[in-house]
Formats: sequence, C-alpha cells, structure tokens
Amino acid sequence: MFDRARIEALRSAEVPPASLIINGSKRPASDGGVMDVISPLDGQPFTTLAKGTEEDVEAAVASAREAFDDGRWAAKAPAERKQVMLKWASLIEQNALELAVLGVRDNGTEIGMALRAEPLSAAATLRYYAESIDKLYGEVAPVAEGHLGMVTREPVGVVGAIVPWNFPLMIAAWKLGPALACGCSVVLKPAETASLSLLRLAELGLEAGLPAGVLNVITGEGPVVGRAIGLSMDVDVLVFTGSGRVGRQLLEYSAQSNLKRVYLELGGKSPNVVFADAPNLDEAVAVSANAIFRNSGQVCVAASKLLVQRSIYDEFISKLCAFTREMKVGDPLNPDSVAGAVNSEAQLAQNLRFVEQARQQGRDILTGGERILEETGGYFMAPTIVSGVRPEDPLAREEVFGPVLAVIPFDTEEEAVALANATDYGLSAAVWTSDLSRAHRMVRQIKAGLVHVNTYGGADLSVPLGGMKQSGNGHDKSLHAFDKYLDLKTAWIKL
Ligand code: NAD
Repeated sequence: MFDRARIEALRSAEVPPASLIINGSKRPASDGGVMDVISPLDGQPFTTLAKGTEEDVEAAVASAREAFDDGRWAAKAPAERKQVMLKWASLIEQNALELAVLGVRDNGTEIGMALRAEPLSAAATLRYYAESIDKLYGEVAPVAEGHLGMVTREPVGVVGAIVPWNFPLMIAAWKLGPALACGCSVVLKPAETASLSLLRLAELGLEAGLPAGVLNVITGEGPVVGRAIGLSMDVDVLVFTGSGRVGRQLLEYSAQSNLKRVYLELGGKSPNVVFADAPNLDEAVAVSANAIFRNSGQVCVAASKLLVQRSIYDEFISKLCAFTREMKVGDPLNPDSVAGAVNSEAQLAQNLRFVEQARQQGRDILTGGERILEETGGYFMAPTIVSGVRPEDPLAREEVFGPVLAVIPFDTEEEAVALANATDYGLSAAVWTSDLSRAHRMVRQIKAGLVHVNTYGGADLSVPLGGMKQSGNGHDKSLHAFDKYLDLKTAWIKL
C-alpha cells in the first residue's frame, strides 16, 4: 500500500500556484491576490493559493445559482448523477497517493492515517451518497378519503460549505456527498492551511462530469471568503465544520442576511472513561493513546480527557506513559510515523500555551510537554500527558486541538458521569467496562453525540456524527445527513 519511492518522489514534486474554481474553470483571484502555502513539515513555503475576494464569492454563488436553476445537475435523473459521482470516486481512488501526499505536505497528518482517512474515505463517502440517492422515496400521508397528502423532498439549492484543515477531504466529502447527490450546487471554502488536496479533488469531480457551476471552490481567508459566503443573500444553506468561535459568527451572518439555515459541526472535549472492569487494560491503554495522539490530537473527536477508576489508576497511567513514549512522532511522509506535524505555528503555540498554563497551576506533566524536532523547521510536538488536572481547569473543559491529554481519577460511576459531562462540549466519549448494564447506563447519561464502548473511533459512514451542547447542531454521515440538503414539500390535493 505504501510505495515509499513514490511517496519520496511526491514529497518534493513541484506544486504550481493554485487557482480558484468558478463555473467549471480555474481563475486567479479577482484582484490577483495570492497567499503562501507553508508546509508544517519544514516551515517553508512551497506554493501559493489564490486569495479569493468578496467579488469571487459573488461570482461563485451566481454560477452555483445559475447551474441549480437551469437544472443541468438538479434535474438529471438521480441515477445519472449517481454515475458521475461513482466515476469521481474511482478517479479519487486512482489518484489516492498523490492526493494524500499533497494533503500531508499542506496539513501535516501522518501518511498512514492521511491515505485512509482522506482520499479513500472521501471516495467511499461519495460512493455511499451516490448509491443512496436513487433509493430515497417520498411519502403519501395517511389521510381521509377525498384528499391526497403527498410529501416530497427537494434539493435546497445553493449550499455554502466551509471546512477545517484537520481532515479536509474527509470532512468536505461528508458535505459534498449528500449535497451534490441530491442535486444542490455548492460553493466550497477550504481552510487556509489545507486547500491544495481539496482543489485537486474538485478538479477530479469536473473530470468525472460534474457540470460547470455545480461545484465551485474559493480559497482564501476565512474573515473574507467565509464571511462573504455567510452573508450571501443567495446561499440557501450553510454547512460548517470548525471552531465554535467561527460557528457563532456564521449564525450572526445568517441573521444579518437571508436567514440561511446554518449547520455546525464544532469541537469537543471528549471523555474516555476507563472502569476497573475494562475487558482488557492493555488494549484500553493502546486505544486511549491513539485516540488522543494520532494526527497530533487534531481530531474533532480526540479523546482528550481520560478518566480512570482509582483502583487501577497508577497501573493504567504508568502503562499509558510507557506506551506513549514509544509512539514515533516525526516526518509525516515516513509511513513508520504514528503522528506527524502540528498544522501550523499558531496551533503549536496554542498547544504549548495550554501546557504552560497547566504547569503554572502546578499540574504534573508526566510525559512530553514540549516542541520537538525543531531543527527540521517543522511544527512537531511530543505527545503530552498531564495529571493532577482539576475538573474546573481549562485542560478539563476546553478543546486544545493538539496532542495534550488531561487525566483525572474517579471513584464511582456517578462521579465519572459528572466529570465526563463537565464541559460545554458534547461530541464524543468512550466507556471501558465489562458490565453490560453499566455500559448502557453510561451511554444514556453521557451527553455526547457518539459514545463508544470498549473501543474508540472507527464508527463507519452508516452512523451519524454530530454534537450535543456546544459541539454542534447537525449531523454528517449516514442517511440523516440528507436532511440538511433537502426541503420537505407537501402537496395537499382534493380528489
Ligand atoms: P476554524 O473555525 O478556525 O476554521 C474553519 C473554517 O472557517 C476555515 O475554512 C476558516 O477559513 C473559516 N473561517 C475562519 N474565520 C471565518 C469567518 N469569520 N467567517 C467565515 N469563515 C471563517 O477551525 P479550524 O481551526 O480550521 O478547525 C479546527 C476546529 O474544527 C476544531 O474546533 C475542531 O474540533 C473542529 N472540527 C470539528 C469536527 C466535527 O465533525 N464536529 C471535525 C473536524 C474539526
């Protein structure tokens, strides 16, 4: 699977300056503006992005609207759209390694995870929604004789999609898959530090036969491009994955413009609760370490708060520290690395600030806590475990979005539930126990959209992912994702 020679060739392949994609063709920004793309592997610029403007967003929205209104995509038979999307998925698979390496050079994720979670996951997602779309039926309501109540679902129209940098292809595909399958047109805004592989993905979509205007990509700065999409009077639905800070702004933009529906997939502070009766402690150790440290903790569902029952606390934490110290962090294009680079200098600084604050509060840094491999120029951080964390500490409540794990002991199930829920977030959680009843009680009591039992991660496309509390208000994945992109329409007919 890992052709090391090919990865090495792609590592330093020249990447031409990137353009916007509007109405099926590549264009520079309207004012010619560009921005450097800095690789987190060495801190060096390796190409440029077009720095989109409000005018570019207007042009993209207009082309998406025209494409939607004239039915060049929306009015096609679902089975025809399916064929284009299946071809797109195949092209992504054929170019998977190229896409993955380009993405890694841009965002720093280790190649093992990047290949699986980025192009291959994006292709699987597009397939899933392509295959679903000609199997969704409307409804005939159970009404009295003399009337017919018919409920159909129509594509909402123009969708604005704003995505983050941690898994650009996977997360964009969670939105593009259902939106395009059901006939919407899309204006996509990738993150500043992870645009290149998404632009390539969109090009492959055009190659597969997406008509011009159906998928537009505007790169550039969030407060310019993202804001213009948020404030557009002609975007019907806005779907977003990213921080709560920006999510709040998007709700305001909606209120200030056309009341577009805004679906938010935000951050988390996900508890991982290990009871003394966990079926296999060694497995729980390995899975818990990977659940926070893979992709340098830059995973929305990262299990960043570890709660361990006191009777096994010392043993568990000592095994966890030993396991963590063995994790190979470094060059993300080396397939042996289990964690790569932190995405940007700013994110690295934020991670280190959280650790410094914990240190000043007198918490114990059991392992890690510092930048490493500085001589490479890249942004690498040692996996960090902090003990003595109090439930009210920032580390116990706020998202770091880096390789920093807070550990807290507990005695009873009630205490574990209270500690798990003591955060404004509610995205993901895990419980390790051999007691089936306890597992079910915990699943019910933890306020999170996804609760794992005796495992972490790996929940496939067939199940929804969405947050409770301040982790969001919508769902990606599964057939439920269609709800965001389809309007219900009732026809009430007198017979
Ligand atoms: P971010 O909120 O800083 O940026 C996300 C996107 O919003 C980027 O494309 C950015 O350019 C854009 N943006 C920035 N300012 C904007 C503005 N004023 N108006 C409109 N758009 C703007 O998030 P990030 O740092 O890229 O990503 C990390 C966050 O994403 C974390 O909080 C993480 O938990 C979250 N996330 C959530 C999920 C999920 O499924 N719930 C998945 C992955 C990441």
